[in-house]
Amino acid sequence: MEVPFSDLHSQYLSLKEEIDKAISTVIEDSAFVRGRHVDEFEAGYASLVGADHCVSCANGTESLVIAMKALGIRPGDEVIVPAHTWISTAESVTNAGGKVVFADTDKNTFTICPRSVREKITSKTVGIIPVHLYGQPAEMDELLEISQKYSLWIIEDCAQAHLAKYKGEMVGSFGQAASYSFYPGKNLGAMGDAGAVTTNSGVLAEHMRRYSLHGGLKKGEHLIEGTNSRLDGIQAAILNVKMKKLAGWTSKRQDLARRYNWLLRETPRIDLPLVTKWSTHVWHLYVVKVPDRDRVRKELNERGIQTIINYPVSLPFLPAYSHLGHIYDDFPNAFHNQSRILSIPLYPELNAASQEYVAHSIDKVLSQTYN
Ligand SMILES: *Cc1c(COP(=O)(O)O)cnc(C)c1O
Repeated sequence: MEVPFSDLHSQYLSLKEEIDKAISTVIEDSAFVRGRHVDEFEAGYASLVGADHCVSCANGTESLVIAMKALGIRPGDEVIVPAHTWISTAESVTNAGGKVVFADTDKNTFTICPRSVREKITSKTVGIIPVHLYGQPAEMDELLEISQKYSLWIIEDCAQAHLAKYKGEMVGSFGQAASYSFYPGKNLGAMGDAGAVTTNSGVLAEHMRRYSLHGGLKKGEHLIEGTNSRLDGIQAAILNVKMKKLAGWTSKRQDLARRYNWLLRETPRIDLPLVTKWSTHVWHLYVVKVPDRDRVRKELNERGIQTIINYPVSLPFLPAYSHLGHIYDDFPNAFHNQSRILSIPLYPELNAASQEYVAHSIDKVLSQTYN
C-alpha cells in the first residue's frame, strides 16, 4: 500500500466544479489582483476567525513583515521567536529590519517556552512571535503576562493553526495581530501563495493595508514607502470556495488524530503528541517522537509510507543564523527534539484503511529489536 504524506489532488477533485467555476469567473471579470473576490475573501475570513479586520497579502511570510512594519519596528529592535519553527517566523523579523532573538521551545508541546522568553528580554525587546506549531496553541496566558509586564507586542503566527482555540478562544485573538499562510499544504490552502493578517485594531489594519499597497491606499497618496504584497483574485476565489469546508476538514483532522492516539496506544518507544488541556488542536501535523528516527523513517518509506521532518534542524543551528554563534546547549529542548520528531500522514482525505496501515507499520517497526 502507498500512503502519501498529503493528498491535495483528492481535495481538488472533491471541489472541482466549484473551483473551476470560481477561477473562470475571475478570468471573465479580469479581477486578477485585489478586486471583489479579494474583498469577499477578507470579509469572509475575518468573520470565520472572529477578527474585526483581515488584510490579505501575497503569502504568510510577508504577512509577518507587514504586521511588524505597521507596528513600527525600527533597526536594532529585538523580536523573540521560537528556536523550533518554520524559518518564515524568524526571517520575517530580519526582513522587517529587526533583530531575531531565539527562545527555546517546550520539550513536549513544541511551542515557545515562556520561561525561556523571559530570559531573552532586554531593553531592546519590542515583541514576541509565538507560533501555534503543528496546530496546537502556544501558552498564551503566560506570554500575555510577559508582554504586559514589558510592554511588548505579540504577533501570533497562526500559519499552522487555522481555527485552533486556546481556552475556548480562537487563536489570533490574543495578540495585536495574527498572521496566516494559505500555502497549498496548510489546513486552508490556496493553489499558489497567499497570506493574510488579522487584527481587532482599525488603526493597525489601516497601517498594514497601506504598507502592503506601496504605502498608499489611493493612487498618488503614498504616505510612506511600502511594498507590493497583494492577494491574487484567483487565489481569493479558490479560498472563498475552500473556506466553507475548513470547519469540516478540521473536525476530520481531529477524528484522525484521536484514532492515531488509539491505534498507537500500545506501541513501544514512541511519544505520541501531547495536547495540553487548554488546547483545541487542529492537527496541521501529527508529530511523534521516536528513537533512531532516521531508520524508522527509512523503514516506513520502504513500506510505502511517506513521512516528513518538520523541522530537521532548529533555526539557531542553521547556517543562516551561524552569525549568532549559538551552541546546542543554548536550546536544549529544540536540540533534543530535532533528532526525534517525525510527522506522519494526517489529512482530511486519509481513509481508515490507510491510517490503520500506517499505525500498524509504525508499531511493527518500533517493536523490532536491534542489536
Ligand atoms: C507556512 C508558514 C509560514 C508562512 O508561510 P508562507 O509559505 O510564506 O505562506 C509562517 N510560519 C509558519 C510557522 C509556517 O508554517
